[in-house]
Amino acid sequence: MKSFSCDCGQRLFFDSEACVKCGAVVGFDVSTMSMCRRENRDPCVFPCRNNEEFGVCNWFVERAGDYCFACRFNRTIPDLSFERNLTRWKRLENAKKRLIYTLLDLDLPLVSGFETTSQGLLFDFVEDERSNSHFAGEVHNTGYSSGVITINVAEADDVAREAERIAVNEYYRTLLGHLRHESGHHYATFMPMTNHEEFVELFGDPDEDYQASLERYYAHGPPSGWQENFISAYASAHPSEDWAESWGHYLHIHDVMDTAASTGLWQEDPGGTIEERIRQWGELSVVLNELNRSVGQTDTYPFVLNSNVKEKLAFVDRFVRTLKRSPSDQAGR
Ligand SMILES: [Zn+2]
Ligand SMILES: [Zn+2]
Ligand SMILES: [Zn+2]
Repeated sequence: MKSFSCDCGQRLFFDSEACVKCGAVVGFDVSTMSMCRRENRDPCVFPCRNNEEFGVCNWFVERAGDYCFACRFNRTIPDLSFERNLTRWKRLENAKKRLIYTLLDLDLPLVSGFETTSQGLLFDFVEDERSNSHFAGEVHNTGYSSGVITINVAEADDVAREAERIAVNEYYRTLLGHLRHESGHHYATFMPMTNHEEFVELFGDPDEDYQASLERYYAHGPPSGWQENFISAYASAHPSEDWAESWGHYLHIHDVMDTAASTGLWQEDPGGTIEERIRQWGELSVVLNELNRSVGQTDTYPFVLNSNVKEKLAFVDRFVRTLKRSPSDQAGR
């Protein structure tokens, strides 16, 4: 992500709501893809309706009372009759907006399912019986189906998410990671059949029995030596999961390298080829891990990019380039 600053010179963050130096109300303006002060904007901007009603959004809109570009993707918001869900929702919104920023930054097609009948995207933020007895009989797993990304809101609870991370033996589990992964399933629906053969060669047959594969994975774990072929153990569960994991990592790498360059942490030109960017990412991720270890934290990026994974990332990169939006897709932001 780019670095932003207030007109007074103070640094602003993507989730800032006010400038800590001059006190100006600030927010994100999607038309310029930047953080800005609310006053002196032309055209005038207003807070998103989800800011006025719930305080969970810092994006601006051009017409008072509207939902912002990002909030127009929400089909189901957390049940706010439970007080704790407001905080969880705010965390979910924050991660969702970071995902949306990256998708727009990559010029990918991105339209709310409320505004199109084909290949739109929506989000359901739902709770189930595992975290709230009020929802007895309901089970909602984080996942993607027919244009809808579902996130169990308990994932926005640090204790619950960390418990699940340990239970399923993962190194890394975050809201942003979930969202980036699920968006990979969405963009897979944009893949032309001409890419099919190459996809199968790299990831395997996406039509392999999904339910059976997942059951096998959860019963027996990943195959031994999975590290040589996959970015994560879960990627070995099914070719579609391998794709979504690879896609998610492509977005991680894109965003972190962008942030590192924008803040001055990384001064090498990432260059035009994916191979060069992956090479630099290898160096940068070591720096990030060492920085974290210096303050006693776990690794920022606990993954190894082997040559098979690099080929998969290169495939994602070629696909992303073919997906670049036509100018007409950009209307209505
Ligand atoms: Zn300021
Ligand atoms: Zn909003
Ligand atoms: Zn998945």
